[in-house]
Amino acid sequence: MSPARPRPVLATVPLYSPDPTPAFLDLSDNVNLWGVPPAAARALGEPLAAQPSVYPRSDPSELRAALASYAGVQPEQVVTGCGSDDVIDGALRAFAAPGEKVAYSAPSFSMLVNFARVNGLEPAPVPFREDGDIDPDALLSRRAAITYVCSPNNPTGTGVSAASLERVVSRAEGLVLVDEAYGEFSGRSAVPLLPGAPQLLVTRTLSKAFGLAGLRVGYGLAAPEVVQVLEKVRGPYKVNVLGEDVPWVLRHVEDAVANRERLRVSLEALGLRALPSAANFLCLPVPDSAALGRALLGEGIKVRVLRALPGIGDAIRVGVGPWDGMERLLVALREVLR
Ligand code: PMP
Repeated sequence: MSPARPRPVLATVPLYSPDPTPAFLDLSDNVNLWGVPPAAARALGEPLAAQPSVYPRSDPSELRAALASYAGVQPEQVVTGCGSDDVIDGALRAFAAPGEKVAYSAPSFSMLVNFARVNGLEPAPVPFREDGDIDPDALLSRRAAITYVCSPNNPTGTGVSAASLERVVSRAEGLVLVDEAYGEFSGRSAVPLLPGAPQLLVTRTLSKAFGLAGLRVGYGLAAPEVVQVLEKVRGPYKVNVLGEDVPWVLRHVEDAVANRERLRVSLEALGLRALPSAANFLCLPVPDSAALGRALLGEGIKVRVLRALPGIGDAIRVGVGPWDGMERLLVALREVLR
């Protein structure tokens, strides 16, 4: 018997495996460091409500209705998934045939490239503009089946201007996927463009501002025709029903934005200059990110270590949370940078 042979392209796809080392303070994955919204915590505390022995509903209509009302769209414009990862992966599979291109500005969300390769697509990166915005014409010139815009961008945190976004959405030939995993923090969204844009898909998540990363709930917003296609590729039973706690979320979005700018100023005093950020994290270019990441872990603080980012070089990415944690980070940085 010969061994099972994976598709050759998988040899080029790294396993997504963030450093599992536990730390006193984990600032490495941009989740909500204020915790879980109170209403969701209450719902999760009711064991019978979860009914783990039966399948969740294939059509999670209450969740859909809640997300539609939060996003200001109709329920038929909402598709849910097991994290927004799931919606992004399904969209790549549904709207690009093997061999076709996925255009994006590099560096961006690392899983996008992995999903593209796994689905037999060709990642087609273009550089950001000098001012940090996406370059719409460079993206459009790739004539890709899917154009991906991460707004704000991970791992840099940089925002995308309304003009650039509108240009990509109005001129792209294929699907435009706007990833708003950190959209709450930027106060800007592509959702108002949806009525005139049948080729637009906006993906969002409950993992970041909503403080529910452990539940794996993501969603996409698009024209009903796009939603129906995504439901087909996704298959049933991906997500359970969940309530929301929007005022709590919005309060902590404000806290994250205020602490992010306060942290930026304190980091500057240490000689560290963060890139402009419209998200709940800061990206700090440094000469040797692996060494700095290790030193911080020695002080009990985990950050995301980023190596050789296009146009940036080494960097660390730090999530923003309650100020006492930020103070700990500053104390540790003062210690390791001495
Ligand atoms: N998009 C971006 C830009 C992200 O950073 C992440 C998570 N790190 C995701 C999508 C996926 O998040 P989730 O699957 O938890 O919704």
